[in-house]
Amino acid sequence: MSPLVQVQDLAKVFDVSAPWLNRVLEHKPRQFVHAVDGVSFSIERGRTLALVGESGCGKSTVARLLVGLYQPTRGTVAFDGQETQAALASAAPARQLRRRMQMIFQDPYASLNPRWKVRDIVGEPLIEHGLVDGDQGLKSQVGELLASVGMSAADMEKFPHQFSGGQRQRISIARALATKPEFLVCDEPTSALDVSVQAQVLNIMKDLQRERGLTYLFISHNLAVVRHVSDQVGVMYLGRLVELADRSALFATPRHPYTRMLLDAIPDVGMSGRARTPVQGEVPNPLNPPSGCAFHPRCPHANARCSAERPALSEFQGIRVACHAVAEGRI
Ligand code: SF4
Repeated sequence: MSPLVQVQDLAKVFDVSAPWLNRVLEHKPRQFVHAVDGVSFSIERGRTLALVGESGCGKSTVARLLVGLYQPTRGTVAFDGQETQAALASAAPARQLRRRMQMIFQDPYASLNPRWKVRDIVGEPLIEHGLVDGDQGLKSQVGELLASVGMSAADMEKFPHQFSGGQRQRISIARALATKPEFLVCDEPTSALDVSVQAQVLNIMKDLQRERGLTYLFISHNLAVVRHVSDQVGVMYLGRLVELADRSALFATPRHPYTRMLLDAIPDVGMSGRARTPVQGEVPNPLNPPSGCAFHPRCPHANARCSAERPALSEFQGIRVACHAVAEGRI
């Protein structure tokens, strides 16, 4: 069976130039940020691909490109074999596509309308897509959706401010599930929550995936969370994928030096005694990225080739890695 989501050479360039008059007076050139630069991956039905990386690596931009909130500068996204750009250009296919893919945002405080009751928030997509008949039908469907995320039907008469952060995120998930989507794009869905609450929300998401056969793209900067939810992991650095592998392979034998650096930052609760290198340096300015491999200023394995030539994502023993040192057998 073909993958549900296929992304090919996806790129997004933002024009961040100063206004025209400032540029003329101050003799400044136009400036562009390559937020996503040639990313390709696919997600099988019922599986979870997690994209990880530090802030500014482009993972949230990929999420927004997938659901059509941004137009790609280059490349394609195909959903169930159909190119989303073409589908989003006309009303009926766009509506159908929006029903089948939904997004959960990081901040449940900002993504829920504070003036609406939970019944209206969760029920809006049902009404919008004509999936409900009458007030009684709406109440019963909203009640079922709330029950599916571990809340009670009585909660539908309350406002968002009457709930904790974790409960608000559950409401966001219930709303996202209203149209019975097949694909959920989850952009740091638990980052704003306390650690104990994060686990509850992640477990609910895993249960829902099992029950409904959902496919997830999960965006996170936290590898401990990714280890809990993912089947496949893509590591991003400055807009590019540097490693793409099955979860077990990536956590057992990380190949790319950046992946190793991120893994070394996770607390070693198993007290394995393995030598660890803390995360060093900072993500470079995306307006002026380093030449060659963008990671070379922070990499302990960098050589002259690394600063001159950008490595391509190539397959090594089932793991796709973009690194000269791996290709040369140095690591
Ligand atoms: Fe380090 Fe070179 Fe590999 Fe980049 S290509 S990660 S600089 S060894």
